[in-house]
Amino acid sequence: MKAVLDHIGIAVDDLAAALAFYTDALGLEVDATEEVPSQGVRAHFVRVGSASLELLEATTEESPIRRFVSRRGAGIHHITLRVDDLAATLARLKAQGVRLVDEAPREGAEGALVAFVHPASAHGVLVELKQERSASRGHHAR
Ligand code: ZN
Repeated sequence: MKAVLDHIGIAVDDLAAALAFYTDALGLEVDATEEVPSQGVRAHFVRVGSASLELLEATTEESPIRRFVSRRGAGIHHITLRVDDLAATLARLKAQGVRLVDEAPREGAEGALVAFVHPASAHGVLVELKQERSASRGHHAR
């Protein structure tokens, strides 16, 4: 299986403070912000080479990000690996007894297909697998 790191999702408690660190202190730039109302999340993407950091800000009380932060504090929430064939990857993982949150690809941001692997099968890490709409593109443009 070929996979590349797409992004690392970071749950933030105080967005202004997080931006002050990543942009002011580190000198990185936010190159896209995306609202995901269904998840109660606003995502701010900070490009780092060919991957991104995704700063996740809760926008509702019921947001999974709010729950995550109140339980565990701010920090790494998930990592996202980009694969060429998500359905085939899921079938392969399933055949190996890997616990999946999503048994089938579902629609993610920017029309991509995504599926989550349960942290119980990924050594405590929530792993998101992602297949871009046009899989032929070698690199994603955001
Ligand atoms: Zn993400």
